[in-house]
Amino acid sequence: MHSALWQSVLGEIELTVSPANYLTWFTNTELLDLSESQATVGVSNVFAIKQFEVKFNDLIKTALEHNGAPVKTVLYRVKTTRKSVINRETTGSPTVDRVEELIAPPAKKSSKTPSSGLNPRYTFDNFIVGSSNDLAYTACQAVAAHPGVKYNPLFIYGGVGLGKTHLIQAVGNAIIARDPSARVIYISSETFVKEFLDHIRFKKAGFSDKYRNIDVLIVDDMQFIAGKEKTQEEFFHTFNALHQANKQIIIGSDKPPRSIPTLTERLRSRLEWGMAIDIQMPDFETRCAIVQTKASLSGVTLEQDTVEYLAKNIKTNIRELEGALNQLLAFAEMRGLVPDVSTAEGLIGNIRHSRPQHLTPKQIIDKTARHFQIESKEMCGIKRDKHIVVPRQIAMYLLRSELHLSFPKIASELGRKDHTTAIHSVEKIEKSIKLDFLIREQVAEIREKLYA
Ligand code: ADP
Ligand code: MG
Repeated sequence: MHSALWQSVLGEIELTVSPANYLTWFTNTELLDLSESQATVGVSNVFAIKQFEVKFNDLIKTALEHNGAPVKTVLYRVKTTRKSVINRETTGSPTVDRVEELIAPPAKKSSKTPSSGLNPRYTFDNFIVGSSNDLAYTACQAVAAHPGVKYNPLFIYGGVGLGKTHLIQAVGNAIIARDPSARVIYISSETFVKEFLDHIRFKKAGFSDKYRNIDVLIVDDMQFIAGKEKTQEEFFHTFNALHQANKQIIIGSDKPPRSIPTLTERLRSRLEWGMAIDIQMPDFETRCAIVQTKASLSGVTLEQDTVEYLAKNIKTNIRELEGALNQLLAFAEMRGLVPDVSTAEGLIGNIRHSRPQHLTPKQIIDKTARHFQIESKEMCGIKRDKHIVVPRQIAMYLLRSELHLSFPKIASELGRKDHTTAIHSVEKIEKSIKLDFLIREQVAEIREKLYA
């Protein structure tokens, strides 16, 4: 009923906030009610309410005032109609696709479009944006809007379970939703290697054509192509053919091009032509938003403290966060319990305890030292050479993150009296992990060795 006013308010807001923020928070809002002193805005989940109250309240009030509706207060409420989103999630295919199917018989359609390999579950709609992934998200959206024009190739990299596959598939799904005749192929580099080897071994025809006559090529887990020189060469030619024809190439990888070992120099330089962006572990707020949104997609509204409990305790990656949430919902349903904090505590506690208990401070120090090829003695000694200082700081960080040791204890494990060094070291590595890909990777590798 107030939609014209609200559209105009949104129009103003869109000019002031970042595109990622606008998409995340504002696209699904509605003006539910308006009186002389008060406006009620409908938002999509409980978590969003807090965001609006804290971050966007003034902005909204000002924009309302500019549009002739000055109010004293704005209330935020969760809209009750989540149905459309849920439908889209469960049926998988966007509406455009289905309309298209009604008009054209499916057989005809599939003869035009090669099988894309895309999972329709991965869309921009159900991807939560925060500061850890907003650059990647914005770039993917730009590519989806203008494939082959901007950022070609688009290279998205980052740790396991952080949403790379989701995002790069969302690009493909968005392109097909807009133009069902677009030829999009999503493939893992492993499959690419395998198909290429089959093509050579069994003289299977059509391999080169299959990948050179398409509009968008999405290759995931590029790191698997490391060391496969012949395949890299084939990929190099595919790349050139597509790039020259202004076709879009999108790549997902757990490492940036320069860190993939044994990537031939010319392929590496090709991959660095376009834009490389990394995705990081989302911050606490974004993790909360992810939990809340995923829960409501399953038709469950969680209390804020339960959401926060999950987000606080699962910091490894989003796949695990999602796993823990699903476990909680399934467990609660089976036992007829409410999926609240105490149920979550019981479960997450179990998940944590299933980690090996026998890890000792000495093992952390030894394995970190060995990883950097220095002696444990040196690590606990007094030398301040750079090649020792950083491993020492990482060891301190791991003593904290894995064993939750106190700072004085951490200091003494490394032969130090002053525990402020331990505090500084842990803080420094925490910060570096966010900013420096190489440090992040080193820490992840050592952590894997600890639990191997
Ligand atoms: P990666 O390819 O980086 O290992 P995935 O794309 O497979 O990670 O993501 C793991 C799971 O987490 C998927 O189910 C994905 O849908 C979900 N996920 C990751 N990031 C987000 C996000 N920002 N919003 C919603 N779901 C996400
Ligand atoms: Mg993946």
